[in-house]
Amino acid sequence: MIKLFAANWKMHKTTGEAGQTAADLHKLTADKLPAGREVLLIPTFTGLEAVKKALGTDERYSSGAQNFYPQKQGAFTGEISPAMLKDVGATYALTGHSERRHVLGETDELVGAKTVFGLAEGLRIILCVGEKIEERKAGKLAEVLTRQLTIGTRDVPKDVAPEYLSIAYEPVWAIGTGEVAGPAEIIEAHALVRSLLLQIFGDSGAKMRILYGGSVKPDNATEIIALDNVDGVLVGGASLKADDFSRIVLA
Ligand code: PGA
Repeated sequence: MIKLFAANWKMHKTTGEAGQTAADLHKLTADKLPAGREVLLIPTFTGLEAVKKALGTDERYSSGAQNFYPQKQGAFTGEISPAMLKDVGATYALTGHSERRHVLGETDELVGAKTVFGLAEGLRIILCVGEKIEERKAGKLAEVLTRQLTIGTRDVPKDVAPEYLSIAYEPVWAIGTGEVAGPAEIIEAHALVRSLLLQIFGDSGAKMRILYGGSVKPDNATEIIALDNVDGVLVGGASLKADDFSRIVLA
């Protein structure tokens, strides 16, 4: 399975800054990128075109969007469609990121609608799931992941190409806090996600990537990506500087 190293830049970087960081990252990593690795940069919408241009035609590098609306077009003020994202070079998009769920109030149902619509429009989707600290403390890890994954993929065709759907396990308490989940916690959650994918998608569930996200840094990336069922990482804070992210990509 090709490991995916994804950078979620959230609401950071102007167009120029996004293009520069992408160019710097490519320069720092292109000659040394180990076989079997793919790099994905996820800037704000306004950075997409500049990022695509900076990455050029190198197929190991791609760009993606943080969000979109599940309609082709219409009266949806402030929203953006998958076709508009593809038009500026995006091939991937996130759904269900914890900030969309918990800051912007997205429901499991909306996340599911976005996931199926994005796939139908030809985007590769990274569906994010993860428990809050109070849910973990209440012993609800399995319940939360099962609910988010089941509703999030409910209408996805069972024969979806496995390279088009990845899951990112991101415990909410580890995002942007510096508190990374321990190896045993990551292994447990990823095993659970894998078994859910196998239940939902049969054999192709074995081929879908499961990324870990939450305070991934240059000094913990090597250990994390070597764990069972960890097929990549989704990185926020430590992806903002080309130098830091290059050390993760090459870890
Ligand atoms: P973080 O963010 O690496 O800053 O914890 C991860 C994410 O939100 O995807």
